[in-house]
Amino acid sequence: MSSQSGRRPGELDPDAFRELGYRAIDLIADYYGSLDDRPVYVQADPSDVVAAFDDPLPESGEDPSAVLDAIEADVLRYATHNPSPRFFGYVMGGGLPIAALADAIAAALNMNVGGWHPAPSATEVERTVVEWLADAIGYPTETMGLLTSGGTMANVVAVLTAFRDQTNHETRQVGLQGEERPTYALYVADHECHSSIYRAADMLNLGRDAVRLVPSNDDFTMDVDALEARLDADEADGDQPFCVVAQAGSINVSAIDPLDEIASVCDDRDLWFHVDGACGAVGAMLPELADRYAGIERADSVTLDPHKWLNVSYECGAVLVHDRETLAETFAMDASYLRGSVAETPEEFDYYEFGPQMSRGFRALKVWASLKQLGVEGYRENLRGGIARAAHLDERVRDHDDFEAVQEPNLFIYSFRYVPADLRAALDDARGDETDPGEPMDRVHQYLDRLNQAIVDEVVDSGLAFLTTTTVHDRRTLRTSICNHRTTDDDVDVVFEALADTGARLDADWRPEASLPI
Ligand SMILES: *Cc1c(COP(=O)(O)O)cnc(C)c1O
Repeated sequence: MSSQSGRRPGELDPDAFRELGYRAIDLIADYYGSLDDRPVYVQADPSDVVAAFDDPLPESGEDPSAVLDAIEADVLRYATHNPSPRFFGYVMGGGLPIAALADAIAAALNMNVGGWHPAPSATEVERTVVEWLADAIGYPTETMGLLTSGGTMANVVAVLTAFRDQTNHETRQVGLQGEERPTYALYVADHECHSSIYRAADMLNLGRDAVRLVPSNDDFTMDVDALEARLDADEADGDQPFCVVAQAGSINVSAIDPLDEIASVCDDRDLWFHVDGACGAVGAMLPELADRYAGIERADSVTLDPHKWLNVSYECGAVLVHDRETLAETFAMDASYLRGSVAETPEEFDYYEFGPQMSRGFRALKVWASLKQLGVEGYRENLRGGIARAAHLDERVRDHDDFEAVQEPNLFIYSFRYVPADLRAALDDARGDETDPGEPMDRVHQYLDRLNQAIVDEVVDSGLAFLTTTTVHDRRTLRTSICNHRTTDDDVDVVFEALADTGARLDADWRPEASLPI
């Protein structure tokens, strides 16, 4: 575009900005208004999406309203509509409108929350948000913590802090080099250890083998006796356990590990106790679940993820560390170019000395704004909504002859399986049979695995809903994560019926060819 008189490229006078901004706001408002009617998943060939953005680097600029045109035309058209009430994939919050506005304002202020001096109010907002999050889940509020890009980086920060603490911080200087070291190990329940724990072990150069899987109970929670046995065995082998990761909300069935018991094991053995609550730690805001979260307050560190069940827009994770000094010792860094000329007071602390990032965005504003708008009460209502939707789905599954429940409902993530009634009967018979039915039933399971995957593929392609499959007890299952505050029981019903119809149709088409042993 031609620059306005006297302005440098990119700058806009306030009126021009206002006009552009109103257009952007209209776009967002229309978007929110249309969510119910949009196909949730992109209705295009992937190559069309590639082609839409396959432009060369622009040599000359264009009018900013043309940039908005392009966003409206292509980015919106080829988006997956995560904010849709029928988006049940992964663990994704729907995004709160107040968070979108707060993000825009944070971007305009452009404070860099690496240090107090470039970001006094933003530092204090983040400090307050960390305290509020701790308070909300019943964690000690005299804690230290910070916002991160997500749960993965929160887990990386926690596992590094655990490792430094358990090696008396000497590894900060020499890393894993130099003298011979033991094999370090961390522990998590086996049925669905979140990949981010492997990521953390990998990034910290402990290696993915450092993650030791502990057998789980039938309800998918960690078997604490098995944990103790594994710790004993590894110690006898000369390994050095340093951390136990409990999950508060596991990724496929939203199970909550027995936090209090694990805390006691860690106490007895002087191990770091980390709670990965990226999925579900905020469920501790509900007084009726107090029993299930008991012990979270004893954790040395907790990961939570405001961009999931708190529905704050991406990106925003958080890590709480009980002992401020341990976190400070882990990340302390001194560089002369970071020292300003203003005298430091105890209030003025720099977040870059408590985490891995130097330049840091003002993520806290959207969390602060969301917590202020909804309050604990508003959030409790939304959290209960997610739990109620999952329980409703569980009822539909148990009432239907062609579905099988694979879990009791926990929080908002619920997995289940399409199993036509006659195949279910055959499998039940085989299970009851003392002689090992073996291979024929394996063929039934393979058929069901294919069928469940195809059901999800069809429903996703239709645009009605987005969900995924996962593996529970080695079987392909349908997986739903209902953490969007916009979702209603009607949305759940519509999707459930589509799954049932698709399953019946595919089964009728496929069965004659499948030659199953029943
Ligand atoms: C989502 C999730 C993570 C990773 O969080 P991101 O925000 O995706 O990086 C870690 N642990 C659990 C249990 C999760 O559900």
